[in-house]
Amino acid sequence: MPLRYLFIDMNSFFAACEQQDKPHLRNKPVAVIPTDAETTSCIAACYRAKAFGVRTGTPVWEARRLCPGIVFQVADHKRYVIMHNRVVAAVQRVLPIETIMSIDEMACRLTGDERQPPCATAIARQIKDAIYTLAGDQMHCSIGIGPNPLLAKIAADMQKPNGLTLLADTEIPEALLHLQLTDFPGVGPRMERRLKLYGIFTVAQFCRASAKTLSEIWGSQKLGERWYRLLRGEDVPDTPIRRQTVSHSHVLPPPLRTDDGAFGVLMRLVHKAAARLRKIGYWCGAMSVGASFLGNEYGDSVWWEEQARVPRCHDTPALVATAAHLWNRRPWKAGVSGTEHRVPFKVSTVLSDLVPAHSATPSLFDDDRRGEHISVALDTVNNQFGTNVLYLGAMFGMRDTAPTRIAFTQIPDFDRRVN
Ligand SMILES: [Mg+2]
Repeated sequence: MPLRYLFIDMNSFFAACEQQDKPHLRNKPVAVIPTDAETTSCIAACYRAKAFGVRTGTPVWEARRLCPGIVFQVADHKRYVIMHNRVVAAVQRVLPIETIMSIDEMACRLTGDERQPPCATAIARQIKDAIYTLAGDQMHCSIGIGPNPLLAKIAADMQKPNGLTLLADTEIPEALLHLQLTDFPGVGPRMERRLKLYGIFTVAQFCRASAKTLSEIWGSQKLGERWYRLLRGEDVPDTPIRRQTVSHSHVLPPPLRTDDGAFGVLMRLVHKAAARLRKIGYWCGAMSVGASFLGNEYGDSVWWEEQARVPRCHDTPALVATAAHLWNRRPWKAGVSGTEHRVPFKVSTVLSDLVPAHSATPSLFDDDRRGEHISVALDTVNNQFGTNVLYLGAMFGMRDTAPTRIAFTQIPDFDRRVN
């Protein structure tokens, strides 16, 4: 009975943070909203509000109707990150964390005796206690323990709030049969439609499906076999091909060796890199911007680079904003007195800490989702009508710089149309 993974899912994380910080909210129905506007939607609700039918995505006006007396709190992302760090520290007191999936989800690997049910249960209790101690007594979580991360997450989902569920491979598939297909992480409405197309309407049918059928449904033998083995409780190693980075760099042509020229080309590279990231189906968690500057009279050039973490994303506006921010930190700027002026010669950007889209959690913030929609529109138009029919304002006049051949040398499976 190998219980190899322990999965932690914080319950109503944003709402719980608010109730932790503001004791007067603790016995009230609370929902978190991205901005103080009637037109927005809830991004989180506490269990008291959920009992009235308020969910993530419920518009404010509807939440008021469903749950009279509901209290709205504008999201304080910085605060939630601090609480996230406390939760991480608490879990790490008990067990090393293997993967942080999102701001409120993480997984640990169990080894040796920890895989025995009594020991695994005791560890889960210790984790809960450590979270209460370090993050606060309002910070409940549901813990699932299972033979692989997928089944451990499903186990965590089975009891909310404040659950603790063990799911051994001997209980599979029986313990899963009451679930919906969309309860499986990675099966969204679109995949559910596809499963139905292949005659799979229930979890029982899903668990019986052959690896061949699943491969056809997922359009990939690798993914099909992976699902087949995960559903049987096997510990399937993570996606074997894990891309480390997407990067672009470009030597500036002489007319663009100015601050504005370099910035424009950089924006162009970021645009390309973001489109590339979406094309290959990944999200990034960090970004760096670099430039080399022509040096002194001896011709030594100087390299400057700065990196930042970004909330998991793959959209052009978010990455452009981060790049612009990083660019502003460059040490040499034209026309700034008191600093030595250096001429930009080459610019580059690297997107790193990549995770496959199916294991990334999309942002719950309106602004970020708007960025997503803009990016999808950019890709659609550019794929259909050719490279860079649509581009961001910062790139104006830079469309023809940084030609495709640059990317060819760096990314072997480069697709001409995503440029
Ligand atoms: Mg959660």
